[in-house]
Amino acid sequence: LAKQNGHNHFQFYVASIDQEIRDRKQLEKDLAQALANHQLHLVYQPQINLESKRVIGAEALLRWEHPTRGLVPPDFFIPVAEANGSIVEIGQWVLDQACWQAARWAFGGTPLRIAVNLSAVQLRQDSIVDDILDTLRRHKIPAGRLELEVTETSFMTNLSDAVAKLRRLRKAGISIAVDDFGTGYSSLTYLKQMPVQHLKIDKQFIRDLLVNEEDTRIANTIIDLGKSLNLTVIAEGVETAEQEYYLSQRGCQLAQGYYFSKPLLPSDFETFVKGFHEKILENNT
Ligand code: C2E
Ligand code: MG
Ligand code: MG
Ligand code: MG
Repeated sequence: LAKQNGHNHFQFYVASIDQEIRDRKQLEKDLAQALANHQLHLVYQPQINLESKRVIGAEALLRWEHPTRGLVPPDFFIPVAEANGSIVEIGQWVLDQACWQAARWAFGGTPLRIAVNLSAVQLRQDSIVDDILDTLRRHKIPAGRLELEVTETSFMTNLSDAVAKLRRLRKAGISIAVDDFGTGYSSLTYLKQMPVQHLKIDKQFIRDLLVNEEDTRIANTIIDLGKSLNLTVIAEGVETAEQEYYLSQRGCQLAQGYYFSKPLLPSDFETFVKGFHEKILENNT
């Protein structure tokens, strides 16, 4: 009986892997058509200066509205797009779309910065620097208004290549942020060589800030590291007033998270920025 059970189990296992492969193939096929079928769009999450309490920019985040599955989370489909290379085309679309949007945003004459996530696969493309600079030119966006978010893993495959490309981008005036800082394999040696200006504390360290002592210490350490290396620190995933207060007292300059706003559609983002700034004005008078 045991043997029989084992056998059945084995068959079940094979069948489920088979199903998984078919699901994945279908997902890849659907993803290949997502762009052409206008199923992708961007949402924008405000980034706030904790001292001035002003919105200084937005992070563009990709959304895929699948015709039958509904909203597919990027944590699920971006890895698929990276594995089959389609992230190159999708990433270029994101950059174009975000720049198009940023060109239309000037809140009372104060232009906002737009942050775009750049996949390690995109960074590996030979033409990536030219593609980015060309996109800025086409949309007439000054390079200083674009921030690229790269993760620590982007540096690892080919360090000198990544350094060279990021230096060119930096030289053009684009700023570079290390996303999900603290979760990857970055060493301080990388950080020293990398032309980065911003560190983003990963939301996993912010979630239990002030509740979990280790997380609080890690967040403190990243803030101190930023201070000593002269990098701006931005906290992601800020959800409570206590977290916001602590981070701002501790010297973290920027923050984003549900406490301020979830990622928003463009028109809602405009409404948010105006409302947020009016509220600050009222509180000051
Ligand atoms: P990320 O770049 O680290 O983005 C932060 C994630 O945290 C976003 O998830 C955002 O919606 C979420 N978030 C923001 N505030 C809060 C909060 O207060 N609490 C919690 N629990 N979460 C918060 P999202 O939009 O699902 O994106 C997930 C990841 O997918 C991103 O992580 C990024 O790595 C990737 N991604 C999204 N859009 C793009 C894109 O256009 N290109 C590339 N290459 N990757 C992207
Ligand atoms: Mg990001
Ligand atoms: Mg992040
Ligand atoms: Mg993340």
